[in-house]
Amino acid sequence: MQNQRTTTEWRELDAAHHLHPFTDTNSLNQQGARVITKAEGIYLYDSEGNKILDGMAGLWCVNIGYGRKDLPEVAKQQMEQLAYYNTFFKTTHPAVVELSHLLSEVAPEGFKHVFYTNSGSESVDTMIRMVRRYWDVKGKKDKKTLIGRWNGYHGSTIGGASLGGMTYMHEQGDLPIPGIVHVEQPWWYKHGKDMTPEEFGLAAAKWVEDKILEVGADKVAAFVGEPIQGAGGVIVPPSTYWPEIQRICQKYDILLVADEVICGFGRTGEWFGQQVFGFKPDIFTTAKGLSSGYQPIGAVFVNDKVATTLAAGGDFNHGFTYSGHPVAAAVAHANVKALRDEGIVDRVKNDTGPYMQKRWREVFSQFEHVDDVRGVGLIQAFTLVKNKATRELFPDFGEIGTMCRDIFFKNNLIMRACGDHIVSAPPLVISKEEIDQMLETAAKCMVEFEKQLKERGLV
Ligand code: PMP
Repeated sequence: MQNQRTTTEWRELDAAHHLHPFTDTNSLNQQGARVITKAEGIYLYDSEGNKILDGMAGLWCVNIGYGRKDLPEVAKQQMEQLAYYNTFFKTTHPAVVELSHLLSEVAPEGFKHVFYTNSGSESVDTMIRMVRRYWDVKGKKDKKTLIGRWNGYHGSTIGGASLGGMTYMHEQGDLPIPGIVHVEQPWWYKHGKDMTPEEFGLAAAKWVEDKILEVGADKVAAFVGEPIQGAGGVIVPPSTYWPEIQRICQKYDILLVADEVICGFGRTGEWFGQQVFGFKPDIFTTAKGLSSGYQPIGAVFVNDKVATTLAAGGDFNHGFTYSGHPVAAAVAHANVKALRDEGIVDRVKNDTGPYMQKRWREVFSQFEHVDDVRGVGLIQAFTLVKNKATRELFPDFGEIGTMCRDIFFKNNLIMRACGDHIVSAPPLVISKEEIDQMLETAAKCMVEFEKQLKERGLV
């Protein structure tokens, strides 16, 4: 149980002992962290009694919404029955068997096998090891290099951070590791120049082909990308991009990997982002929405081709103490079943998703310094720009975004700034009335933001 302390006491203890992820510790501790004490539906509550609309579903993960009563009950029962056992040495347990069976039902055709992890980063690292093992077993031991993208995000472990294209992460700790290279992201607004989005999609896919030829197809193991780049700013690629990437990977005999950690489990209205863009990867990584954040768990899905090859290789020397943890597996099972059987994913596809996308465009397109208003299902964004007519971005990409994000925060609405992209991904249970409420608050914040831009002489 949590001790009942005052906000000040929590802040002081937090500052004294807790190192936060992706945080400038000194500057946080001067301010003090916001203390979140409970949550229900799409709302968070802090220790000061504020009710905050969570337009980010935590870190893009609480797909089913906060405060479900059934998931803790499942966790309790599983803990009482079998709190832990491993799946290493010729052992399994009902919770992991049931989850694997259910996942094979919701996965796209051809994906009947999963490998469990505890997070998105571990899913990505597992995938890197699988891809290299796949080519080893095939007898092509030189096929080791993975191609990722600049501004892609694949986690924070050494493998994941290397594969991701966040240079500010590479700068800390001598990344990327060898055997990982990057190509430019398919961001039409910035890189598309005078091309149509469709033309640009093909041009961006060609960068991948050029990289394959530069490295040598006999050395390239896989291309990896998020169907929609999430932390990079919800970069939605043109419709031509993924099918062309698929064609290129097939042409050069390279595995295609989708990182579905954000797009998976209904975020886009489809179960997985690959289904929106019409491509079929060989492997895809997941976490987040798999348990809606109620337990830490991730899963790597492999198609029959990869599963058969890995199996032919005998031992795959990889795994985690908590791979397929019984409590996490039981909770994930109940979560995925509810996302399906309560029609939550269907509603995003047919009702709330289209509604959000229509209203999001109506509300934000009218602002003078907002452009490229975009999104699919319940993942959306817009970009703050200096000049719409010339597509000029602000200098110091990110500074203005943070200023805008802070105005949302002050008004008890959580949206995130990724550079100068303002992004949102609320719980999938958000209703149309709640969407209206969220956008009404957001619009007021944007009026305030544009006022401040002028007052500070930034435009
Ligand atoms: N891949 C993608 C696409 C992600 O968005 C994230 C997290 N935002 C990760 C991997 C890493 O997941 P985790 O933080 O659970 O390790």
